[in-house]
Amino acid sequence: MRSSTLAKCFLTLAGVLLLLWLGELPAHPGPVLSGAQGAFVDSLVEVRSRYGAFKGGARIWGNGVGRKIAFTFDDGPNYQTTPRLLDHLDAYGIKATFFINSRRAHPFGLGSAKSYQALLETHRRGHMLGNHTHAHPNLRTIPAAKQKVQIELTDRLIRRVTGADGYLFSPPYGAMSQYASRLLRKRGTTVVMWNIGSEDDKFFNVSKVLNAVMAKLERQGGGIVLMHDTHFWTIEAVPPVVQAVRVESCVNLARGEEPYEVVGLDYFWHKRGGRPAPRSLEARRRWRQKRAALVRLCNGRPKVGLPAFIRGESS
Ligand SMILES: [Zn+2]
Repeated sequence: MRSSTLAKCFLTLAGVLLLLWLGELPAHPGPVLSGAQGAFVDSLVEVRSRYGAFKGGARIWGNGVGRKIAFTFDDGPNYQTTPRLLDHLDAYGIKATFFINSRRAHPFGLGSAKSYQALLETHRRGHMLGNHTHAHPNLRTIPAAKQKVQIELTDRLIRRVTGADGYLFSPPYGAMSQYASRLLRKRGTTVVMWNIGSEDDKFFNVSKVLNAVMAKLERQGGGIVLMHDTHFWTIEAVPPVVQAVRVESCVNLARGEEPYEVVGLDYFWHKRGGRPAPRSLEARRRWRQKRAALVRLCNGRPKVGLPAFIRGESS
């Protein structure tokens, strides 16, 4: 038997073992709704129902929606960085979408068992999970069969963690292949792109990431923010970004305009004309409460533009 045939046999066997392992992952331990953290957790039944709402095979970009912002985090989970981000998001009452690489929650990778726990926690706290492939390849550079496996492995992990079929996909490097497009459309998966890149893989610095997000937000007016929960500097950039958005919102309110609202990706799905996922009465009630709290917060602040310290321009 030639060595290339042996290698193919070995890879096939490894793939089968990996699929078997994913099937054997411990089931989700279930929500812990008591205590202070419970206050941040939406009903997981409600969270699961949101997954099905994306079935339809559309593509969303995030532009042209007014002052609505959705936060997305790619390339995780990472046990060293994701848990701290979850705390930041809870502190601001923000729900985000995490596009994960299932390879990171694999038992043979360094720290991946801990990252699997971080993934469970991400779901438990009410964030959405999306598919970012298994090992983050450029889909245009690998054969169709491998693309299928890359997508299916992560789908399987999402199903295991959430109990729901996932219909959100973000292509690594924003690069979709014709085969993957067809496969995802057939399956009814929504492909999510972004219009506000944080450039956190180019700038390893909180101030620069903050400035990149705010500059694009100013130009675009709102949209889908792309960050990576695998970088320490990104995690630390999240609180200043949220604070800067609040300051901008105060400026808008002072002008008699609407403030920014942090929304889920379902808002953009609705705008793209897919099967509507109308905002629930509960979501609208929550926004009224948040808006009123923002007005109170803004009234306690001077109505000026974004301070230099938040822009990261001061020394
Ligand atoms: Zn990525």
